[in-house]
Amino acid sequence: MDLLDTLTAKGLRGEVPTREEALAVLATTDDELLDVVAAAGKVRRRWFGRRVKLNYLVNLKSGLCPEDCSYCSQRLGSKAEILKYTWLKPDQAADAARAGVAGGAKRVCLVASGRGPTDRDIDRVTDTMAAIKDADPEVEICVCLGLLSDNQAERLKAAGADAYNHNLNTSENTYGAITKTHTYADRVDTVQKAHGAGLSACSGLIAGMGETDEDLVDVVFALRELGSDSVPVNFLIPFEGTPLAKEWNLTPQRCLRILAMVRFVNPDTEVRIAGGREVHLRTMQPLGLHIANSIFLGDYLTSEGQAGQADLDMIKDAGFEVEGAGEATLPRHRADVAEAAQAGGGCGTAASACGSGGGCGPCGGHSHAPAVTASAEPAEETPEDGDELRSDLVKVRRRGAGTELAPNA
Ligand code: SF4
Repeated sequence: MDLLDTLTAKGLRGEVPTREEALAVLATTDDELLDVVAAAGKVRRRWFGRRVKLNYLVNLKSGLCPEDCSYCSQRLGSKAEILKYTWLKPDQAADAARAGVAGGAKRVCLVASGRGPTDRDIDRVTDTMAAIKDADPEVEICVCLGLLSDNQAERLKAAGADAYNHNLNTSENTYGAITKTHTYADRVDTVQKAHGAGLSACSGLIAGMGETDEDLVDVVFALRELGSDSVPVNFLIPFEGTPLAKEWNLTPQRCLRILAMVRFVNPDTEVRIAGGREVHLRTMQPLGLHIANSIFLGDYLTSEGQAGQADLDMIKDAGFEVEGAGEATLPRHRADVAEAAQAGGGCGTAASACGSGGGCGPCGGHSHAPAVTASAEPAEETPEDGDELRSDLVKVRRRGAGTELAPNA
């Protein structure tokens, strides 16, 4: 297939496809799917070998959010029966982080619900990072606290944060349909603040909210332009009690095509299968590893993933290996750019001008996601295609951070 030969050749050279080529990936048929996965797999192995980076989420503060992100179980007015708690103490968060690191995680992601942190919140997270790094000096820490005010990114960087997550989530055109309380431009601004402070930018998307193929391609190109070092690809988890509860638009095949498109547009960038992996890829998860080079270990912010040991078994059975603490994630040329940015406090964009697109938003929606047709009102339609309603697959988190039970890692 000419398209796949072209995309493979470009990916092996680290070149970005055209927008039309990216759209064509999403339009491939199920009969072509294994060829698409194989082509994306060649690009993945060129830049990341068979390594899988494990990331571990610690939800520092759950629920009680004043923002209205339609996809989010923690949103204002959410009826989802999730855990709700205020800030974990540093030692509680460090205990949860330690479980993830012991399970093989290289990066710990510290996430808190809310529009954005106060300066007191930055102090709390500073203390939490110190507690984690006391126990595991090598662990990477990514912080996700929502919209940043001036100088907060610099404070996080000085306190030892390695990265900041703020997802773009969807295209600029559709952003207003999923969230009213902040804008796409707000998200862009925060990613730029993080980048400008020398933090590695982690910014991704949520698929399955009713968006078009064009929306998906728009957001992925925006992420590329933004210079995101890691791109989490979330598949909407339609929580009961949120406006998007009926948005079951994804199939495992569609998820694989989306992952492949993201890989071709970001050949040398960390691509992570994020929230919704178990719910939407289901038994096809191992094929996703041939495209993405990173996953979350264990549970998500407000929902439960498969057992951490099942993640490890899947990686091994599929012929991949967990990336070690001493191994670089990014290819050398990308790592050089990121390190220069961190040393100089400047933009780490590798291949294109920074600042022209994207941004992440309050707390990034790792475990939950929105609908583009969406509004603040519950959706009433049944899905036109894709999955049947599978709310039985959505399991609210009842263990780990904020509970008396051990974390899943
Ligand atoms: S995504 Fe973050 S900011 Fe938006 S509602 Fe959820 S917790 Fe709040």
